[in-house]
Amino acid sequence: MNLYEYQGKKLFEKYGIPTTKGILIDKTVENDYVYLNQLNLNFPVVLKSQVKVGGRGKAGGIKVAHNKDEFIKYLKQLFNLTIKGVKVNKILIDEHVDIEKEFYLSFIIDRSKNQIVFIFSPLGGVDIEEVAQNEPDKISKLFFDYEVFDFQIRDSILRVYGKRLDVVKQIEAIALRLLNLFRENDCILAEINPLVLTKDGKVLALDSKIIIDDNSEIVDQYEEDDEEISEIEREAKIKNLAYVELDGDIGIIGNGAGLVMTTMDLVSLYKGKAANFLDVGGGARADKVKESIELVLKNPKVKALFINIFGGITRCDEVAKGIIQAFEQKKYSLPLVIRLEGTNKEEGREILNKLKELNNNVFFVDTAEEGANKVVSLLN
Ligand code: GDP
Ligand code: MN
Repeated sequence: MNLYEYQGKKLFEKYGIPTTKGILIDKTVENDYVYLNQLNLNFPVVLKSQVKVGGRGKAGGIKVAHNKDEFIKYLKQLFNLTIKGVKVNKILIDEHVDIEKEFYLSFIIDRSKNQIVFIFSPLGGVDIEEVAQNEPDKISKLFFDYEVFDFQIRDSILRVYGKRLDVVKQIEAIALRLLNLFRENDCILAEINPLVLTKDGKVLALDSKIIIDDNSEIVDQYEEDDEEISEIEREAKIKNLAYVELDGDIGIIGNGAGLVMTTMDLVSLYKGKAANFLDVGGGARADKVKESIELVLKNPKVKALFINIFGGITRCDEVAKGIIQAFEQKKYSLPLVIRLEGTNKEEGREILNKLKELNNNVFFVDTAEEGANKVVSLLN
């Protein structure tokens, strides 16, 4: 998993790597001038598109604003920008730095050697592959298994850059901290390009590129952090419900991923559009069913609900109890279609008789096809 620049910079802070301080904003505030005016900006500021692709600078995704007017102008421009096919939905408003010199610094797993490589170059800010092609003697590489001595890192830096020892010392300290970050976060790559020397003699990370091994548990915490998932999806994760939000207006709940997908296909066959995928799983108890209904109906786009249960280990009476509990608590009035088949279906249907008092728009069907057809027709 690739991290956003702002996420990488948060890690830098945690590991004591000097970096710029920024404010992350979201496309939702693009026209919120009250909010934008409230931001306490110290001009000039740098606006940096947050997309998980490189070469943003060259693609026009990074702008320096010297005043409020420029800031608003660039903000609009960037939020309308697509970089290598990726839309800009987040911008990091970053501290502006006066750059004296740009370096390149990274740790990478070398798959062929099964080792970690430390790479350093005094020619930063540009594509490192270009440097490797044109000036290979300006790149220093150090291979090691897991442990490395400080002096090895220092020598590696000195091989290509020895002008200012105060700067070398700062780079060395940053490299060692980045290596801790790299190891403790199951990284495949941790890259700072550019690492800059400022006009007042400080070395700091101006950009970050972090890739975490997809097999690592660390990636879980970022999926939750990922702003691309909706509030409801975030809540579903916490409650351990298998929920995916979609664009349509028909809420779908079923047991078993295969059955839920089939239900969605049938709805689409009858020209309806599913608002979500929700699988209550095998053997779901009443409280889980109730929670699932509440979750699906939090999406304001949902105009009708189709519950399709084929009981095996899941018992229809438990499902029915959950449905009653949900509708007793919140008097949902939207049209509702229910198909209950399988284990304990008679008991389940018995319990559901009560639902007619709670919702006068409920329909019971015997097959999934019938249900899909019914729920679509209720919306037309
Ligand atoms: P990338 O193009 O996606 O790798 O984005 P970077 O964050 O590396 O930025 C590209 C270039 O923009 C850098 O190499 C810098 O030259 C420039 N840049 C970014 N932030 C600043 C800043 O605060 N001050 C100045 N002067 N230049 C910056
Ligand atoms: Mn960069």
